[in-house]
Amino acid sequence: MAKVGLREWMALAPVFASGKLARFGDDTGGPLLRFEADFCAKFGVQHALTMSSGTGALISALVAAGIGPGDEVLVPAYTWIATAAAPLAAGAVPILVDIDQTLTMDPADIVRKITPQTKAIIPVHMSNMVCDMDSIMRIAREHNLIVIEDACQAVGLSYKNKRTGTIGDLGAYSFNQFKNMNIGEGGAVVTNDPQLFARARMYHDIGSLFRGYLDNANEPPMLGVNFKASQIQGAMLRVQLKRLDPMIARMRKRYDMMTEILSKSDRMRVGPHNDVANAAGLHVIFETPDDAKQFAEENRRGVYRLYDSSRHVYTNWQPVLQQRSGHPAMNPYNWTDRKIEYTPDMCAQTLDILKRTCRISLGENYPATLVAYLARRMVRQSPAASGKLSYATS
Ligand SMILES: *Cc1c(COP(=O)(O)O)cnc(C)c1O
Repeated sequence: MAKVGLREWMALAPVFASGKLARFGDDTGGPLLRFEADFCAKFGVQHALTMSSGTGALISALVAAGIGPGDEVLVPAYTWIATAAAPLAAGAVPILVDIDQTLTMDPADIVRKITPQTKAIIPVHMSNMVCDMDSIMRIAREHNLIVIEDACQAVGLSYKNKRTGTIGDLGAYSFNQFKNMNIGEGGAVVTNDPQLFARARMYHDIGSLFRGYLDNANEPPMLGVNFKASQIQGAMLRVQLKRLDPMIARMRKRYDMMTEILSKSDRMRVGPHNDVANAAGLHVIFETPDDAKQFAEENRRGVYRLYDSSRHVYTNWQPVLQQRSGHPAMNPYNWTDRKIEYTPDMCAQTLDILKRTCRISLGENYPATLVAYLARRMVRQSPAASGKLSYATS
């Protein structure tokens, strides 16, 4: 979780003094436009648009890509519920895909879940674990699918030296309090495609037809909502962007230190990672659910079993599983060619992995020596009785 401090506070003073708080209240574009230019340069992407939330960014990306009624969108069974809710907001339906031991979408299950109605994949880089983007992009190109990366929980992370969010057709980020860049609430969408950018921008701003852009990529004005960010968010984001890479570097250092210590334990195994050279998220996998549960109970501080982080597990997404919408006639499940059914055990592989896996915080805001001490203690506590593990981790 990213800290907010004095620098953000100081960055806000000029915004208040100017009185120009709205996205389009400042002729120069204000801090928002400067943030977006800096973000594009750092992330190596053509277009970035700040939004009021990561959820808004996902919905805008789907609408920009022309996803709508009758379409199926593949999402992982382990993510924040917003990933599954976003396709529904665009009129499409989410189809759940199992994760593998990297805690991200299993490419083999993506292939199994593709139907003639599948239009897009939303791979989620979950808690700084990056997806197998090479496999996902290859599958997507073979089947002519749009890829919208949900990088909300991995802002700034890299997969093979490309920033998450910049590999697919579009990427979505969240800047809420629990993410790598923290301004309380906020988000952004990025793309290299000017037409997708123009459509996302129009959708996120119902008033876009009055803004007089000269670069709408020949897209006629379309209806939208209001997901605009304010200049206050822009000013804070400029500061948070400067904090991002140093924070990820601290995570990387602690990841290397802790995995070296934890890999000596024969009770658990450090979980696999799709780009271990850039890893900044740590999880350990046990042989049985009880082993994982016991480990979490022994350590508590900075350690939890993934299955017990219930909100991120698909079995707890009641409004999705029960297919409830605000108005019965506005229910995307009525607009599909085939009947979509969800069951609690439909992603059994995901549940099995989550029950046997613990997440370990990298403690990036604590001294590295303390973090190493905690890791050594985790290993010392391991009861030798568990013996060698019999399963493979990749
Ligand atoms: C946080 C998050 C979102 C949504 O972001 P908000 O800014 O809270 O709307 C979407 N997907 C994932 C994986 C997230 O963690």
